[in-house]
Amino acid sequence: MLQRACPVCNGTKQTVIQNIKMNVPEDYHLPVQYDVVACADCGMVYADTAASMEDYDWYYTHCNFYGDDSKDDNSERYDWMEELLEKYLTKDSVMLELGAGNGRYAIALKRNGYARITATDPSGEIVERLQKAGVNAYVTNIYADPASDEQGKYDAVFLFEVAEHLLLPQRGIANIAALLRMGGYFMLSVPDYSLIAEDTCNIPNYFNLEHINYFSEDSLDTLMAQYQLKRVDQKRLGADLIQVYKKTTEELMRKRDEKTEAAVRQYLSRQQERQAQIEAKVGQLQKQEKELFILGTGSYVMSLLATTALGDCKILGFVDNNRIKQGREMYGRLIYAPEYLLDKHGTVVICSMLYSTQIKKQLEDMHTENEIVIL
Ligand SMILES: [Zn+2]
Repeated sequence: MLQRACPVCNGTKQTVIQNIKMNVPEDYHLPVQYDVVACADCGMVYADTAASMEDYDWYYTHCNFYGDDSKDDNSERYDWMEELLEKYLTKDSVMLELGAGNGRYAIALKRNGYARITATDPSGEIVERLQKAGVNAYVTNIYADPASDEQGKYDAVFLFEVAEHLLLPQRGIANIAALLRMGGYFMLSVPDYSLIAEDTCNIPNYFNLEHINYFSEDSLDTLMAQYQLKRVDQKRLGADLIQVYKKTTEELMRKRDEKTEAAVRQYLSRQQERQAQIEAKVGQLQKQEKELFILGTGSYVMSLLATTALGDCKILGFVDNNRIKQGREMYGRLIYAPEYLLDKHGTVVICSMLYSTQIKKQLEDMHTENEIVIL
């Protein structure tokens, strides 16, 4: 039974592509599975999750791990955006960034002379961090109705790496349209799921607790058209897509997304072999009764615990490089910093989809005596 209407067109007829299972820690307050579905009306692919707005509010307020920017390279990302900024805005433009996350964009904008940037985020910790960096920032949620003195105020609104997370993107985009002055610009970035067919990264990189809308350039246009936001520019960095919309009075066309469902199906089918390899590797660890330290506490681990025998192995503890996670509990066990491993004996299982090579090197440089396995 359908849990969530299409986030782009409100359609209620879907085809199921694949079920995604995760072993979600109880204190995250989010469901342990959803179906990836395609909307029969507009072609949008999305997670048919049973989570409510309250669930996600709770999650992003209490389980927000984006504040640790220790491993992020900010400069490339900002450079990616800069050309578009110069084309459409000036240093005097009145700008707002919603869902500022680790604050890298807002801080970079401020540093580059865009003095009138305001940033918001649902997390108080993040807002505090932005304020310390000299950015005008306050706590709010994209779904909160804009105050009357905010409406029509902004020359530009930014939404970077957020739209794929929104349970109700229509409500968020309606608010953004209200915040913009007529002729103002809305810039957003998302991963483009119509390009993932050949990608080799594991499933939880694309289908996890947080990524629940699988946009393409077409589905974004259809969403924005409902709020008189017309696309004027586009830029790509790998599978990441940045699009620029202008607030207009024109009636805009909606376009069916004809590409994403096929791309997602191809990607998921290619992942079957990879999944079988991982299951075999975990099976070995279980059979040899190895005592494990799991390095990584993100969506990949949640997926492995739900889809392989990892949960039946002897897990001695969890380790993570993210400073915000260290000291928290997961599955009733404390999360440690990597240094914890220095005087421990066991097999370290690296469960990181994007950084496993770097983490392996980090462990080797630490000269731990532990055997290292990458999943
Ligand atoms: Zn739809």
